[in-house]
Formats: sequence, structure tokens, C-alpha cells
Amino acid sequence: MNYVPPSPTGNVDAFGFDNSYARLPQQFFARVDPTPVAEPWLIKLNRPLADELGLDVAALEREGAEIFSGNRVPSGADPLAMAYAGHQFGTFVPQLGDGRAILLGEVIDRNGKRRDIQLKGPGQTPFSRRGDGRAALGPVLREYIVSEAMFALGIPTTRALAAVVTGQPVYREQILPGAIVTRVAASHMRVGTFQFFAARGDMASVKVLADYAIDRHYPDIKDDARPYLAFYKAVVARQAELIARWLHVGFIHGVMNTDNMTISGETIDFGPCAFMDSYDPRKVFSSIDQGGRYAYASQPAIGQWNLARLAETLVPLFDDDAGTAVDLANDALGEYGAIFQRHWLDGMRRKIGLATSEDGDLDLVQALLTAMHKGEADFTLTFRRLCDSARDPSADATLNTSFSMPEAIEPWLHDWRQRLAREGIASEERATAMKAVNPAYIPRNHRIEQAIVAATEDADFSLFEALVDVTARPFDDQPGFAAYQAPPEPQEEVQRTFCGT
Ligand code: AMP
Ligand code: MG
Repeated sequence: MNYVPPSPTGNVDAFGFDNSYARLPQQFFARVDPTPVAEPWLIKLNRPLADELGLDVAALEREGAEIFSGNRVPSGADPLAMAYAGHQFGTFVPQLGDGRAILLGEVIDRNGKRRDIQLKGPGQTPFSRRGDGRAALGPVLREYIVSEAMFALGIPTTRALAAVVTGQPVYREQILPGAIVTRVAASHMRVGTFQFFAARGDMASVKVLADYAIDRHYPDIKDDARPYLAFYKAVVARQAELIARWLHVGFIHGVMNTDNMTISGETIDFGPCAFMDSYDPRKVFSSIDQGGRYAYASQPAIGQWNLARLAETLVPLFDDDAGTAVDLANDALGEYGAIFQRHWLDGMRRKIGLATSEDGDLDLVQALLTAMHKGEADFTLTFRRLCDSARDPSADATLNTSFSMPEAIEPWLHDWRQRLAREGIASEERATAMKAVNPAYIPRNHRIEQAIVAATEDADFSLFEALVDVTARPFDDQPGFAAYQAPPEPQEEVQRTFCGT
């Protein structure tokens, strides 16, 4: 065992864990400790998040490397790897589980919310199969950057509490520096967690898990006449809204397997994810998504497919009569499309500055997207520039430069202004509202890659730090950081991202 000197304050250990998942029956997880690493070094502590969790920020700043590397298990932690299954690219795998993640435990944050604290990359677990249980620095930085950017964009997501390098190499196609990200989540229950038990015919465990999930995430429906159906409907609604919100910011998850879809409605698992630059509904970044299953515009339908898999696990709990239960499940899932469409169109209306709704709005939004696709317009920049055009039509000249054929957007701008004129809202007020929903800054894929290359090759974390800082305030104009708004130059463009497994 590594000797770890005691903390001078003792506070670094004071997480105040209360581990409800560890109190579930033993088939839900495997107890396992992190494997110590050689030379941990703290890249980044998320101070505001640490504070929100009620942790001792100063002590963690000093000694967090020991904790977030897994070298020292804080008191009260009950480390475990969760069991889950999942459909990966449509193929069912009955046993996946946390092969490179260990849940330290749960804390109640300053707002009274229960949060999981999990190390990702802490060594092997009983679910590792042939994997090393480790993570490379690149994917750790990507998860840190993107999950925190999603949070700043107001999109439900797991968070990044800390990143450390381990001082040990990991062996992928190349030898890479090893790293660990500490993930904070409302919980780590996934669609695949339900599938794990359902696939084994263990309905008793499905029921225990559903009761636990209801208690933890949907306590209001406990007294519903059909609590399990209400639970399912609630998950459907949250996922429909979540995916609508991804589309609003050009986010492509990249690997929407059922094991990467949470029950809480948070975005999870930032493997090959990326934000698109120029608008293309068929856009795919993931190197492993060759069929485009998880392309940008396919995400709503894939979300529904995944939720159908969740229904299959829960259906026996919906009603004693099998036929009735299936009908209830189908009706519940049938609501997904309308819920998604409502959230999507509401959000798109806000993005183009509409405060009211009219029948023609869907066509107006579609016409803009079609023009953007044809004109290869940058998704983020176009909507941001539209804010300026709403304030002052002389800004159209700048907006036009987003399109490969600048005159192509003119007819749309004409129709848009006619629609805006029917609302009677001051242009200044409208532009301000638009800027609050159309980010100036997203973590562009080429910026992430540059940050990863500098960190991996030169141990230079300055680009990572800068990107995290800029994307923490996505809706503010940040003078001096205009370059972070810009799409990549052709030679900077990144076509493929990798899971890093
Ligand atoms: P993901 O693609 O990250 O959603 O992971 C899919 C499954 O592969 C999960 O069960 C992971 O725990 C497992 N896995 C991924 N990478 C590793 C690794 N390096 N070592 C062990 N298991 C891994
Ligand atoms: Mg996963």
C-alpha cells in the first residue's frame, strides 16, 4: 500500500457521504477500490462546484490530487462499480457495467440535492472485461470542457469536479498520459441499468430500481395511481426536452447507446461528442459511428428508440394485464414526439427572437435551417449574428458573410422581419432576449483538439484553462476572446472524434 500522509487540516476527507445506492441489494453493484497511481497531479479543481457540494475547497486545492486520483479514499466513501447492460449501436450487450468508473458515494449538496461523486479512469473493476479501467488525458479534458460548457448553456448534464493526471501511461493506439475525471451526477442510473435486470428476468430487481429511481428523481409521482407508468412518462418527457435542447446548441452526443442515457434526464458520457460548426443535419463526428446512427438530426428518433427499450423493461409493472400494460406503454412512448416537437419549436422560436407563436413559425424556422444548410452557415455564429440583425438591419451585412452565397438569406430575412413586426417588441429588448439563448461561445471541436494536443504533447494546460473560462460564460460578449467565436479554418477542422476507450 502507498503511504499517504495525513491531511494537515483533516478537512479534505470531509465529504459527508450518504451512500444510498450502496444500500441497495448486492446484485446492483460490485464493491471495488480505486487502484492507486504513481504520481497524481491536480490539473483542475472545479471550485464553484466543490463549494456547491459543501466540500473544503482550499483543502482540496492543496491535496485533491490524492483524493481525485483514487490514491486516498475519503472517509465515508463506499466505492463501487455499478452493474448495467445496454444496446450499443443497436446490439444488446447484457453486461457492461462500470468498467472504468468507480462511484465513491453520494453527498447532499448545499441545495439539498443528492449528487453522485464518481471517478472515471480509476483502474479495473469486475466489469472491466479486457479493458484497463483507465482513461487517457484527451478524453478526460474533453469531458471536463464539454460537460461544464453544457452546464453553462443551461442544459441538464453531469458535471466535472476535478481532473488529474496519474503519472502513468495508458496504452491505446499510442502511449498516452493517463488521467482521471471526477464526475458529479444527479445519479448514474441509465436505461441500461434497468435492462441489466430485465434481461436476467429479475423483475424484483427492476421494481427495486424503479422504486429507488422514483424516490430519488421523481418523488412527486410516488402516490400516483400507476406510479411506474408515471415514472416512465416522466423519463420520456425529460429525455424529449433534453434532446431538443441539444439540437438548439448544435450538440451531437455521438454515442447514444442505452447505457449512455440517464434516468435523471442529464446528458452523460462525453466520448466522441462535439458541437457542429457549419449546419448539416447529417453531421457525425464519432469515428465509430460509420452508419450515422447518431447523426445530429437522428438524435430525437434515437432517443425514442432508447426509451422504447426502457419501456420493455418496465411494462410488466404497468398493469397486471399484459395487453393493457403494452397499450399503456405505447401510449406513453407515443407522447414523446409531441413533447420533443413542442420543446424544440419553443426553443427555435426563442432563437429567432419570437415571443409569441403563430402557425407559420415552423415553416419560418425550417426555411432558415434549409438556407443555413445550403449556405454552409456556421450554426452558432449565424444565430448569434441574427441577434445583431434583430437590433439593427445594418448588421445583416455581417450575417450574410456566414453564408457561402450571401444573397441566399435575403428572402428569409424579409419574411422574418415581417413576422417580427407583428409582435410589437422593441428591437433592443428582442436582441437582448436572443443573446440570452444564442451562445457566442461553445467549445468548438478544433479548440478542444488544440487544448488536448498542447496538454498531451507539452503538458501545457493553458489552452484547456482558457477554453473552460470562455465557455463558462457562453452568452456574454467577451472582448478579447473573439477568436473563440470563430469557426475553424479549413486546416483546423476536425472531422472525427474518438471515444478514447
Ligand atoms: P462507453 O463507450 O464509455 O459508454 O463505455 C462502454 C462500456 O465499456 C462501459 O461498460 C465501460 O465501462 C467500458 N469501458 C470503456 N473503456 C474501458 C476501459 N478502458 N477499461 C474498462 N472498461 C472500459
Ligand atoms: Mg458509457
